[in-house]
Amino acid sequence: MKFKGYVIDLEGTIFQNGSEILGSFNFIRMLQSKKVPFRVITNTVSKSTEEMATLLKSCGLEIPSSYILNPIKALNYYLEEIQSSSYFFVGPSYIQSQLSIPPDFNGNPKYVILCDFEKISLNYNLLNQIFSYLLNGASLMSTSYSDFYLSKEGYKLDTGSFTKMFEIVGNQKATILGKPSSLLYEVALKQMCFNKHEVIAIGDDVLTDIKGAKEFGLFSVLVKTGKYKEHDEIKIPPDLLIDRLEDVVYKTHLSS
Ligand SMILES: [Mg+2]
Repeated sequence: MKFKGYVIDLEGTIFQNGSEILGSFNFIRMLQSKKVPFRVITNTVSKSTEEMATLLKSCGLEIPSSYILNPIKALNYYLEEIQSSSYFFVGPSYIQSQLSIPPDFNGNPKYVILCDFEKISLNYNLLNQIFSYLLNGASLMSTSYSDFYLSKEGYKLDTGSFTKMFEIVGNQKATILGKPSSLLYEVALKQMCFNKHEVIAIGDDVLTDIKGAKEFGLFSVLVKTGKYKEHDEIKIPPDLLIDRLEDVVYKTHLSS
């Protein structure tokens, strides 16, 4: 099999806790030297893609920030497609400032976009305001469907837990902007001008990377780094299982 482009997860696949996952930078450099198109995708929104690119550069890997896609970029793509500013954004101002169309609505917005509850001043009135927007017909969108995450201080509630609460009280399913939903993959393929059968998706997380790639229709590769735990490949079988990112070269005839 021979593919033309790659969609590669960042955390746990290329990079983890501020350092390279062994061999991954060489793999990316090889793609760059062979001019093989790729995009790096991440569900992280706490850093902008520019900050991610700067962090990677400080560790020795140069990737243009335009090659890094996160749920905020997916959201920008969506807002530009629908040409709407009628949304209520839940998240800190430094994330909201990354949106290409600023929010502008009178009365009730058409969309409620949940991004981050940790870095805002959260209170009952805000929760009830979101609830009332949903009751008045706003559609729910969210950057994440994860219930919690592991921080240095221990487990913390993630945006997904609030998303699920508002799905229940708003009686609707949220549109999710991050993996495993298809929007990030759609943006990546659109930017590279490829069809689904031409692209490989690689990641360390079966529940986001492999589930998302398979549901979208991409050839999925699970790498045994980062979040990978033994027998993960049984939960959601990938098309290919590799030990290290570099192994994909030999398994998919990239070097031929
Ligand atoms: Mg990962």
